[in-house]
Amino acid sequence: MQGATKKGQKGMLRLVKSDAITSERKPMIDSEDYYKQVERYADQIRRTRNPDEIIRILDIVLSETKELRTNDEVFTAREQIKRAEQKIETLKDEIEQLRGLVQTDQMTGAFNRRGLDETFIREAARADRNAQSLGVVVIDLDNFKQINDNLGHQYGDSILINFVAVAKETLRPTDIVARFGGEEFVILLPDVVMEDALTIIQRLQNNLSKSLSIQIDNKSIPVTFSAGVALRSFGEHQNSVVSRADKALYQAKRTGKNCAIPALA
Ligand code: GH3
Ligand code: MG
Ligand code: MG
Repeated sequence: MQGATKKGQKGMLRLVKSDAITSERKPMIDSEDYYKQVERYADQIRRTRNPDEIIRILDIVLSETKELRTNDEVFTAREQIKRAEQKIETLKDEIEQLRGLVQTDQMTGAFNRRGLDETFIREAARADRNAQSLGVVVIDLDNFKQINDNLGHQYGDSILINFVAVAKETLRPTDIVARFGGEEFVILLPDVVMEDALTIIQRLQNNLSKSLSIQIDNKSIPVTFSAGVALRSFGEHQNSVVSRADKALYQAKRTGKNCAIPALA
């Protein structure tokens, strides 16, 4: 590149060399600056509760630490700096693990409500960016109270765990399974049309029936669910699309359960 433009003192544009811009933007850090900088970052980390923000700050510290390591002036401090890098990496891993824990339903391993909220925001933004749809399925297991009453709460728990395992096996790795509460689940299907979403849910139902049936009054009864399926429209909020899917789920329950109904737009 020959040069770049920069605003002059009287608001005029003037030409400056590109290396002038580079050195203006990215000064060489020395160890003194570095320690002050780290203190500032530590302060920012103390003030934030958002794990994404903490990881972003740690990434900056890490890249500046690496930059410092290549600086000959601080040759003797290299070992210390390496150890600092390792500590930062470990801290990042621990934060990632903690974030996983707070977003996960401990019993089933599905996302919990909080995990769903955070994932929805990410998936909705991706869908809008790529002009893609996002399928939102609300699922409620059928006659679950009867299952609990006849076979015990613990058996009921094992069915919830099994449901999530079958869902994860059936769905694509990019699909999301979340426990919405009790025996209700929300599934997110990125980039899907209604017909395919209904086929996927039917496949889930088939796989669930194959994997599990229960004995009540000497009769073998498959475990089934009802579902409402909505396609998120551009810019639509989580509450709105989940509420549409929920209304369709209510229709599915009213029409005899064990089926999936598309939501109204
Ligand atoms: P429907 O087909 O209309 O959905 O009927 P249902 O019996 O599934 O629905 P209902 O809302 O009457 O009962 C849901 C039951 O799910 C009641 C509650 O005790 C049970 N349940 C909720 N959370 C759990 C859980 O974590 N473990 C177990 N075992 N049962 C749960
Ligand atoms: Mg329910
Ligand atoms: Mg139910």
